[in-house]
Amino acid sequence: MAEPQNFMRVPDPTPKRTLYTDAMEIFHRAADTIGLAPRVRLELEEPDYEHIFYVTAKLKDRLRPLSPEAARSFGDLPATQVRDPNGLERLADGQILLNGKALLGSDVNIRRGHLRLPDGGVYQLIPGESQRFKAYRVQHNQARGPYKGGIRYHREVSLDLFKALAAEMTWKTAIAEVPFGGGKGGIQIDPRQYGKEELEAITLRFMYKLKRLIGPNIDIPAPDVGTNGEIMALMMRQYLDGENERHVGRAIVTGKDVRIGGSEGRVKATGQGVIYCVEDYYADRGETLKGKTFIVQGFGNVGSYAAEIFAGLGGRLLAVNDYDGTIYNPDGIDVPALLAYVADPKNLKRSVAGFPGAQKIDKKDFWEVQAEVLIPAALGGEITGEIAEKVRCKLIAEGANGPTTPEADRVLLKRGIDLIPDIIANAGGVTVSYYEWIQNKRMESWTEAEVNAKLEHALKRNYRIIRDISRNNPRKTEMHDSRPFCVGKQVEPRLAAMILALKRIEAHYIIEGFSQ
Ligand code: NAD
Repeated sequence: MAEPQNFMRVPDPTPKRTLYTDAMEIFHRAADTIGLAPRVRLELEEPDYEHIFYVTAKLKDRLRPLSPEAARSFGDLPATQVRDPNGLERLADGQILLNGKALLGSDVNIRRGHLRLPDGGVYQLIPGESQRFKAYRVQHNQARGPYKGGIRYHREVSLDLFKALAAEMTWKTAIAEVPFGGGKGGIQIDPRQYGKEELEAITLRFMYKLKRLIGPNIDIPAPDVGTNGEIMALMMRQYLDGENERHVGRAIVTGKDVRIGGSEGRVKATGQGVIYCVEDYYADRGETLKGKTFIVQGFGNVGSYAAEIFAGLGGRLLAVNDYDGTIYNPDGIDVPALLAYVADPKNLKRSVAGFPGAQKIDKKDFWEVQAEVLIPAALGGEITGEIAEKVRCKLIAEGANGPTTPEADRVLLKRGIDLIPDIIANAGGVTVSYYEWIQNKRMESWTEAEVNAKLEHALKRNYRIIRDISRNNPRKTEMHDSRPFCVGKQVEPRLAAMILALKRIEAHYIIEGFSQ
């Protein structure tokens, strides 16, 4: 007979370091600092639920471009005259998708599965096949309210990443004082390689499967990297399809278009929130943003609005790095012109690369551009220990989630570079999502000025509490009260932010107790 221990899995004595364990390092430090109740630590250490499921979709036929060498053997292939050029949808990777009856009624010349378009290029016809995508929803904690967090469409996602991002939402909603918990999810997909109608089919199928797991009072998704208001509209439609009381369910997602129940100010809320924090950082020193130089990584939703608002307050943008390139102009980049360049439909990659009003530089040189403020607004883990040694800014305002690794944190602290941590700096998005949710529930719509005034108050008030915790300066002012949160010693800003989150979450467990 086998020994009993053969049937038991012995836990690894030194658990593997993962992105999630890295992200939770600060949680454990804060928990130790405040002596978090042990059972609350267990509740928060791992998510409530981790859902993994699969989504399938039928793709459309595609035209894949041949290299000039490969195209040579089709030298005498006559061009195909496409009668409906709108049926050809150009994707960022150079492929062309055939929509509807793109080639029907055209003079088509196909040889060995290849055709030439009027632009001269030779393309291979790839028949549309069905594809399977891996999808996730992690629901981290709901002690303070329904799970809340974005939907990411990106090739590099994993359960580990969504766990880290969902936990981060639990901290962020507590810091922003909105009555939500934390969640995050999405699909492993590069959305730029799929057509509009394909993304619609994938999104509808995703929501079809997600529906049983979420609800306007259970778990409320929002846009994140690779998704936007259009995707939210599809998710809402699918969730409410056929429901009798559709109008009361609009709060199922936030980040919707204003015309279908979205909130004024939501689209730019995250970038706006980053700048409210930066403004307050300088106000504390008796300074304004006028004349301050800054650089931005990522020029999507968060980065572009942060840049626009910062520049509108007199700041000077010196460099931008995104997925496809880096641009630099020591005299300052014309932000409205850059926004127009990125939004131009001809700019398929929506990238800053090739912007005529700046010079191209290498990504590694981006980090070394001297500027007062660095705003990382791309993906996580970008500022490593090595990069932290090189940066030449005085303040990092984290627009992205988790852009700075724990090792980089230690380097920045040693080098005296200030930090506005992500869980307050980019909390503007979830704060205005909460306003959208309330407006949906109450069937109201607020003006942008009302939204911004509330957002500014919420972020500055909580950022001041975090600064007070960090400096160990317990006090009550008209705007905020940091006395219940200071811990009797100075702590770095990221730890201070986590202390605020944990004290607010712990109160629920201490006062309400645990359901059995
Ligand atoms: P987005 O998809 O609109 O834009 C992402 C930008 O990052 C693009 O400009 C892209 O080119 C760039 N990028 C991607 N990979 C890169 C790389 N390897 N190097 C350099 N640049 C790269 O996404 P977003 O909504 O602006 O989100 C950006 C960050 O902000 C993410 O970390 C997200 O989780 C966080 N965030 C977003 C919101 C929101 O409301 N959208 C709220 C809170 C936090």
